[in-house]
Amino acid sequence: MTREGEGRKLQVKEPLIFELSSPGRRGVRLGPLDVPEEPMDALLPAEALREEEIGILGVAEVDVVRHFVKLSQMNHGVDTGFYPLGSCTMKYNPKVNEDVSRLPGFAHLHPYQPDHTVQGALQLLHETEKYLCEIAGMERATLQPAAGAHGELAGIMLIRAYHEDRGEDRDVIIVPDSAHGTNPATAAMAGYRTVEVPSDERGCVDIEALRAIVDENVAGLMLTNPNTLGVFDESILEIAEIIHGVGGLLYYDGANANAILGYSRPGDMGFDIVHFNLHKTFGTPHGGGGPGSGPIAVVPELVPYLPAPLVECNDDGYHLCWDIPKSIGQVRAFTGNFGVVLKAYAYIRSHGPDGLKAVSGDAVLNANYLMEALKAHYYLPFDRTCMHEFVLSGRWQKREHGVATVDIAKALLDYDIHPPTVYFPLIVEEALMIEPTETESRETLDAFIDAMIQIAEDAAEDPERLHEAPMHTPVRRLDESGAARSPVVCWQPVDEADASDA
Ligand SMILES: *Cc1c(COP(=O)(O)O)cnc(C)c1O
Repeated sequence: MTREGEGRKLQVKEPLIFELSSPGRRGVRLGPLDVPEEPMDALLPAEALREEEIGILGVAEVDVVRHFVKLSQMNHGVDTGFYPLGSCTMKYNPKVNEDVSRLPGFAHLHPYQPDHTVQGALQLLHETEKYLCEIAGMERATLQPAAGAHGELAGIMLIRAYHEDRGEDRDVIIVPDSAHGTNPATAAMAGYRTVEVPSDERGCVDIEALRAIVDENVAGLMLTNPNTLGVFDESILEIAEIIHGVGGLLYYDGANANAILGYSRPGDMGFDIVHFNLHKTFGTPHGGGGPGSGPIAVVPELVPYLPAPLVECNDDGYHLCWDIPKSIGQVRAFTGNFGVVLKAYAYIRSHGPDGLKAVSGDAVLNANYLMEALKAHYYLPFDRTCMHEFVLSGRWQKREHGVATVDIAKALLDYDIHPPTVYFPLIVEEALMIEPTETESRETLDAFIDAMIQIAEDAAEDPERLHEAPMHTPVRRLDESGAARSPVVCWQPVDEADASDA
């Protein structure tokens, strides 16, 4: 990892695969026709016939392979480099999990198979549920939700079902100002009014402010602990008492569970509902939009409202139980993202209780190691022992040298390091949220520290250079909102004149 990008992979300029196409070139060759030839319009009704050429690409197999391998080399992933993306827990995904998820007995199942033909798969779902409940300190869980945000939505719907069942009409969900954006978004989607509670100077929920806004309208509070500032809120029992005191429920956003496995349990902290992001904490690959899995686990009082079906076990074996009269209904097709759950099961089983505890211990150690080494070079707004991640601020670099956090993030790319999460949480100016994860070696952490210190020095001595970064990546600075706001989803040939403006 050197600033000049020595040893970096070749900077390849790869055309679109459409541009590689040559009419008539083929990737597969079919054998000679061994049945009588029939004209297409004798086989299909007129309205089913295509009017125009389909435009299938003419590319040979070797060209396809080279094209996609080259594209994959332009990408950064946990298998190619350090990826300290705070809150997202981009941890290494053990390859044994991939192996087991491809076992034909799992991979070739069909979700419509009768229960008695898929006993192994149902057992796996049942046991995963039990493990997650043990880790969370909860009674039952559903594995249906497709991601954390989806778990949040299902969880808040449970809160609504619980209150409605008691004939209560509450309309407020409280979220801290450090919350992930999905928390208030979830509350709003479920039809609640969101009320924000501020953080105190230690980065925790301001207890007096909480007391002041809590009343009988509060349906629940959503909290992640450790929170998005990477600090553990020691007042959690008091917070639980305040919310339960007015009849509200506590929702645990488990995105930061990587810090607590085997050390503390949301159920013991007073939470009523927990989601886990299996794709974060339990090592299933994620990024680029999925697939994920966001199971939610609940206390006994909320079990009657869980989504159907649940996997039950009796003398006849495992079966899907749909008979849940007060259920909020099904929140996803079948039993959820089975492949992701399977990888998480393999992760939990291969680590065991001691291994999972070691995951959290090492994750916390790695984060504190980085924080201590970097706090002389970047402003540290909450200077206290962190959990599995911590938040620095680029405000010294911004105020003194005009170098913004985005410049620091871009500069890291030249060291072959994925930038941390930036500009989140919103309450920290020029935030850099760093999460090393447990599997990184001391050498990798030291290389990251060296890169961050070098960037801080460059900010002071040569700020212009950082405004230009990255210098050594296949593409330089991209239009970050363009891809989301005006995506090009269909390729069209551009003429030379247009292409040169692009
Ligand atoms: C990632 C994350 C979420 C949302 O989870 P998804 O699985 O991405 O939907 C919610 N809260 C926090 C704190 C997160 O980091």
